[in-house]
Amino acid sequence: MNKSIKFLLIYIISCLIIFFTGFFKLIAPDYNLLVLVFGVFFIVLQKNLTKTLRKTIFLITFFITFIFYFPFKIISFNILCVSIIFFISIYMLQYPFELYNLKISENEKRLKAKENIINRINTVSIKNLQKKDDDVEYEIKQITSLYNTLKSLSFILNINEAKDIITEILIKIMNSHFNVKPDEFNFILLFLREKEFYIAGSYGFDDEILKKNEKQIVSYILRRITKFPGEMFYIPEIKDETSINILNFIKSIVYIPFYAQKNLFGVFFLCGMRPNLFEEKHIEYLKLLSNQISMTMEKIYLYEEVDKLSKIDSLTGLYVHRFFQEKLEEEINRANRYGGSVSLVIGDVDFFKKINDTHGHLAGDYILKSIAFILKNYTTQSDTVARYGGEEFVIIMPETVKDTAHMRAVKIRKAIEAYNFIYNNIPIKVTMSMGVATYPVDAKSRRELIENADKALYRAKEEGRNRVLKF
Ligand code: GH3
Ligand code: MG
Ligand code: MG
Repeated sequence: MNKSIKFLLIYIISCLIIFFTGFFKLIAPDYNLLVLVFGVFFIVLQKNLTKTLRKTIFLITFFITFIFYFPFKIISFNILCVSIIFFISIYMLQYPFELYNLKISENEKRLKAKENIINRINTVSIKNLQKKDDDVEYEIKQITSLYNTLKSLSFILNINEAKDIITEILIKIMNSHFNVKPDEFNFILLFLREKEFYIAGSYGFDDEILKKNEKQIVSYILRRITKFPGEMFYIPEIKDETSINILNFIKSIVYIPFYAQKNLFGVFFLCGMRPNLFEEKHIEYLKLLSNQISMTMEKIYLYEEVDKLSKIDSLTGLYVHRFFQEKLEEEINRANRYGGSVSLVIGDVDFFKKINDTHGHLAGDYILKSIAFILKNYTTQSDTVARYGGEEFVIIMPETVKDTAHMRAVKIRKAIEAYNFIYNNIPIKVTMSMGVATYPVDAKSRRELIENADKALYRAKEEGRNRVLKF
């Protein structure tokens, strides 16, 4: 119910009570009039009342006063006159009060407006705070997952493991933070090996197609890197076509180059299957992640370099004796698992001591380096060529039967015999004797295989050198 109407009702009920108490003379009627006068005075003070309502109440009171006097003669004429004077003065009093109320209501209005502004500011700042809070929460999430990433990355020591863990991390991040499905992104991992980049790992691509187009893919990726050197960069939309079919499906690219001592040694090539796959905040996250990946890759690269150095003989560039023993054990185990043969060729330079004595040790070193070069040229990727010690060399030929190994050793012997060794303009004649033994036909263990190949070599020396003998 409206507040004014409620007020009016209460007032009318009060008037009726006053009238009846006066009529039945329950209270001295003069007091009733006083109550009415106070009632009217109180009405004038009511700032909430509308003008018409106030007038109505005033008139009702006035009317009741007259009823008191004329029909019922409850009050005396003197009291009537006094009350009329009262009414008139109270009616006059309304105006200053009204002005005062107007001022108050204006002030109130102004305060209300100020309050509204403050409220609005408060809601805006609360919203801003909420947004900031959300941002902080997002950042905390990012930092936590980066921390976990860092933890899992820090244990990686080889490239294969790195590829697997990076794939795992990316799938997790793409799903939980980026809303990208596992089939919406691919990647290729390039690494440097002996001054050439190769595809060390991939995700989402067909391995065979990658292998077939390796050279073109590597040069495509490197071309971009040299165009934008430095840190990670993002191309949100790829438009140019390439001759490599599988790269034409790529619609956005993130490049993460890896540097060790400012030299590029690897590239992480992250591809999106639709344009603008990554948003601005994703890129910020990827930047943080790329630093972690870069650091891990640098560690792996340096670790592999050190590992390689410990396996390689500094004079000839061939594997060292220890690595040869490990590799031979490995190949024998493999032959045991899958069946097949492992042949071992041991070669020893003929009269090397004499070469040293005649031409000097530096000439001897030159001969050893040249022989290593010939051995590498005459062997395949699956063979292992090592320096056994001094001027003795070994070749492990996996999945090679004795006759084939012998035939290949003869080719090498002939190549050494035919090679023009020239040191300080002096030609030097060099030959090599070799022994061949094969696992499991000639030996039951690694040690026995080496011993028997050595025995065949000893016989080759005995029989006049520059020849290859089978055990
Ligand atoms: P044979 O035909 O019986 O094998 O005769 P050989 O003179 O080769 O025999 P031997 O095994 O006794 O000689 C090996 C020599 O190789 C002895 C050593 O001084 C030399 N030698 C070993 N390692 C190196 C090296 O790194 N550089 C040089 N210049 N000489 C080496
Ligand atoms: Mg020797
Ligand atoms: Mg010798």
